[in-house]
Amino acid sequence: MFKVNDNYLKLPGSYLFSTIAKKVNAFTAANPQAEIIRLGIGDVTQPIAPAVIEALHKAVDEQTTTEGFKGYAPDLGYAFLRETIAKNDYEAYGCDIAADEIFVSDGAKSDSANIQEIFSLDNKIAVCDPVYPVYVDSNVMAGRTGTYDPKSETWSDVIYMPCTAENNFCPELPKETPDIIYLCFPNNPTGEAITKEQLQVWVDYANKAGAVIIYDAAYKAYITEKDIPVSIYQCEGAKTCAIELCSFSKTAGFTGLRLAYTVIPKELKCGDVQLHALWARRHGTKYNGAPYIIQRAGEAVYSEAGKAQIAEQIAYYHKNASYIFNGLKEAGYTVAGGVNSPYVWLKTPEQMNSWEFFDYLLEKANVVGTPGSGFGPSGEGYFRLTAFGTYENTVKAIDRIKKL
Ligand code: PLP
Repeated sequence: MFKVNDNYLKLPGSYLFSTIAKKVNAFTAANPQAEIIRLGIGDVTQPIAPAVIEALHKAVDEQTTTEGFKGYAPDLGYAFLRETIAKNDYEAYGCDIAADEIFVSDGAKSDSANIQEIFSLDNKIAVCDPVYPVYVDSNVMAGRTGTYDPKSETWSDVIYMPCTAENNFCPELPKETPDIIYLCFPNNPTGEAITKEQLQVWVDYANKAGAVIIYDAAYKAYITEKDIPVSIYQCEGAKTCAIELCSFSKTAGFTGLRLAYTVIPKELKCGDVQLHALWARRHGTKYNGAPYIIQRAGEAVYSEAGKAQIAEQIAYYHKNASYIFNGLKEAGYTVAGGVNSPYVWLKTPEQMNSWEFFDYLLEKANVVGTPGSGFGPSGEGYFRLTAFGTYENTVKAIDRIKKL
């Protein structure tokens, strides 16, 4: 009889979004006249920029001729896109990253889940708490995390680094030395960013400890402040300790189109072994490349017109984030995030935990957000609102909350 990978059986159910959906459905059934506004979504809502649409159409039309037809894409990505990324996302910021250190893929979710495959099972991971759940769950599936304690909602072999108001949502160096450190800035869910100086501390630490940092920069397009790095490679020494994950999803609204990239510098080694070579082998074996038309769309993100149109979209979401941030502050809430991020992270009123506040907002303001405890134990007592709705709905929702 076959056996299943019983690491999967260790995973607790992912109740967060299904519980939210159930609660909202029950509320709607009981209150059919209520106009619910959803500020819990992590998906973008604005249409794709015209310059990107134009590139998509052109690439589709190319497929109608024998000369223009494209079959399998090169599994590491087309050179035109890798070179464009190297120039615009790295050279432009003084980072020495070559086009062939960039691996094009269909998502930062899959890359962040799959990257752990190139590391030994006895490596210990460290994650921020609260955290984007994919980092931990993918390591659970691989069998790297020990046993789960439902009471504390933590795994025995994972190092958790609390990120709360007490440390300005920036993790402190852990007491126990990890082998793999997951960092995500600007952060989902807290919406807080890390300064270059703070990130340099992590790079120095990783180099000294012989650890690797997996740096998720999916929200870098939302950075507005000067001292916040758009890439970990702006820090000295990062090329010998860091892998960077980037995505077109939140930058250019590609959540449906699917396009991302991962950077692994050739200098990043374990003894003589380049992690770049391992990931290239893994990518080549398990992945047949992001579609040509989507890679052409990605290239158009960096055209003059594309950059201008996308800057407008980001500004639209920023306007929502500011409205949420300022409105909640006016209403007396303690708020974080929202400045370098589409996420606003608020402290729930003293007598309410994350889920109680969820029910309160749903019932009293008909607004849906995400309970912070769903992202980890240190998220308890916090709540996430996102700037990805329409401006009109955002204003309406926040004005309702202000009136409570
Ligand atoms: N990384 C973080 C931190 C995210 O919040 C998300 C999506 O919400 C992703 C990665 C997923 O990116 P992609 O759409 O490229 O898979």
